[in-house]
Amino acid sequence: MAGGLNRESDAMRFQHLVAATMIAVVNPAGIDAQAEQQAAPDFSVVTLGTGAPPPLLTRFGPATLVRAGKETLLFDAGRGVAQRLWQAGVRIGSLDAVFLTHLHSDHIVGLPDVWLTGWLPGAFAQRNTPFRVWGPEGTKGLMAGLEQAYAWDIKARIADTNLPKEGIASAVIEILEGVIYERNGVKVTAFDVDHGPLLKPAFGFRIDYDGRSVVLSGDTKFSENVIKFAVGVDLLIHEVAIVNDELLRTPIFQAVLAHHTKPEEAGIVFSRTEPKLAVYSHVLLYGSPQFPAPTERDLVHKTRTNYSGPFVVAEDMMRFNIGRTGVNVVQPER
Ligand SMILES: [Zn+2]
Ligand SMILES: [Zn+2]
Repeated sequence: MAGGLNRESDAMRFQHLVAATMIAVVNPAGIDAQAEQQAAPDFSVVTLGTGAPPPLLTRFGPATLVRAGKETLLFDAGRGVAQRLWQAGVRIGSLDAVFLTHLHSDHIVGLPDVWLTGWLPGAFAQRNTPFRVWGPEGTKGLMAGLEQAYAWDIKARIADTNLPKEGIASAVIEILEGVIYERNGVKVTAFDVDHGPLLKPAFGFRIDYDGRSVVLSGDTKFSENVIKFAVGVDLLIHEVAIVNDELLRTPIFQAVLAHHTKPEEAGIVFSRTEPKLAVYSHVLLYGSPQFPAPTERDLVHKTRTNYSGPFVVAEDMMRFNIGRTGVNVVQPER
């Protein structure tokens, strides 16, 4: 185990080096860009959780916060999302909208937490309007099921603490590809991705605000549709998976990888879309006690076989400020 921990911290140090180098690259205007980024950013992304199903302390479940103008938007709600939102200084009850890429459990296990905890009277919560969720077919059933599962809690809190009923109501819109949200100058577009033939629907999202844009790939194999929606985007956040070569001989890991994007393939996506900054989140590094997991350094090297532009392997709580002159990376506080 100790060896594994050392490898991880080595990889993190290496990653910081990569990120530090990239900041200079993605801000070609130099001092002006720095000045701009020091002002309060009007368009920023925080990778709240950069992991997937493995229950890691370093990578919570998938969740991405986008703040654009007056809008505070959450994309996916994986394990630990409520803690991460509060850590990011976001009152959990203040979310304007929640968007789900697909209904795999790693993307939604934090949803009841955001919904229920966001309704409580504490300073961290205080939602008194309906919880608004956009997601694929099945999302209405998901929220109805949660209402049933937590019926005792909801009834008890209304009776006992007089919490507003409106704050625990939910408003769900099931989506198809296209523009799904337009408010205060922020536009969210859903697009189909390829998470495997049996895992439909699955979406990526593009967020446009004031001439700048972010694309989130969601969970997908190499997808021409991601490229179509991400060409020229400012920030492209893409999933990635890599499996130890020995494990890859087994059908189960072949099946896992068949639903995700290899770093060499992501490199092609980055080369063809040319984002100002490419980022990995939903980072899957699969190994076993016998066959160690590939490292972030492996991710970087394999990506570099097809892409030479700026990119970063995200960590939880990394912030990306999307300015007019480039994307500025702010490392998480330690
Ligand atoms: Zn996933
Ligand atoms: Zn998935």
